[in-house]
Order: sequence, then structure tokens, then C-alpha cells
Amino acid sequence: MTADGHLINICFHGVGEPERDLEPGEDRYWVGRDPFLAILDEVAAWPAVRISFDDGNLSDLSVGLPALVDRNLTADFFVLAGRLGEPGSLDAAGVRELRRHGMAIGTHGMSHRSWRAMDPATVHDELVVARERLTAAAGSPVDLAACPLGRYDRRLLGALRRLGYTRVFTSDRRPARPGAWLQPRFSVRRGDTPASLRAEVLARPSRYRRARLAAVGIAKRLR
Ligand SMILES: [Zn+2]
Repeated sequence: MTADGHLINICFHGVGEPERDLEPGEDRYWVGRDPFLAILDEVAAWPAVRISFDDGNLSDLSVGLPALVDRNLTADFFVLAGRLGEPGSLDAAGVRELRRHGMAIGTHGMSHRSWRAMDPATVHDELVVARERLTAAAGSPVDLAACPLGRYDRRLLGALRRLGYTRVFTSDRRPARPGAWLQPRFSVRRGDTPASLRAEVLARPSRYRRARLAAVGIAKRLR
């Protein structure tokens, strides 16, 4: 834990050169291999960090896994069931390879759409069918979820709780309480460096900024 008892969740997306067409705006979350390794070394030295990778890119396996293993680190991988086996994305064998090295597999849903305002059939597809597909790929239960595009609302969180997810990860850029069911994360963005991330995450936020970020989280939960 950090000095004030918080946990820092750090989230990566793609690393290196994408091997598929990116979604609009997605390139902001792709980082080069060297910045990725430098940032991984930086956060590995922090007192309480949990690392995750979203979207199930092939770079999870080709760059992320060896870098984690080299440093004796583990991470949670939030995979998109609908992209399993597609060019540039993990397939079932890749998911099992991550598991074999002690990584956790979570769900990021089926099709990388917002989980807000879904009709019942879409809820089933995104929260139930995608999880079953990932469970089959991983060969072990999938109980973690990360909200695509960082979007969520109260109805969604109720559905995730009813379905028995044990931790749900967002992208709200603030420290987390270690035991909390809802876990905010800091996503690493293109152009981030160890110093920029340290300045944003570890510098003690002003009272104003803390209150504002907490208010963002409350507003989303009540929406
Ligand atoms: Zn995503």
C-alpha cells in the first residue's frame, strides 16, 4: 500500500506496432516498447501496484508477458472475447499461455462497446457469453471485469454484482482502496514517461483534485 493505504492500478493497452486496424482515438493508448519497459520498471518499484492490460492485443503475449516474467511480476489481462483468434489479437492458446505463467484473465466483454444503456440481449452477450468464451479459453473461472471505454453506470454495476464478478475495474484515474470491489485505474497513454506518470500518480493530489475525482466516481455510480 502507499503511505495513505491506497493501491495504484496501472493499465496498459497495446505496446509497439499494432497488428490490426485501431479504433478511432485508440492510438492514444498505444505505447512504444521502450517507454513501456521503462514505465514497467518504474511502477514495479512503487509500494502497492496492480498491473493490467486491456483489449487482448497480441502484444500482451509478445511484449507484455516476457517483460513481466523477467521482472517476476504478474498482471491481469482483460481480453475481448469477440476478438479471440482475430489477426493482431490473442487466441485461446495465447490466453492459456498467459495463465500458465500465473497471469489472471478477466473479461473486457465481447465487442468493445460501452456497457452503459445495453438492452437485455446485449447485456447477456457482453457479460455472460463473453465470460463463458473466455473461461473456456483460459481453462479457469473468469471473475474479473474491466469496463470497456471506462464507461459504467449504477445499473451495470448491479448486473456485474449479480453475476458474481469479484472485482470490477474502471479508468477513473485515482488511487484505489485495496479491498474495494470497484477499482479505479490509471491508463498509460502515448507520450507518458516514468517521470510524467510518477508526477501524476504519486504526487499527493490537492484537496480540490481529490474531491473532484471522487465526485466523478460518485456521479458515474449513480448514473
Ligand atoms: Zn478497452
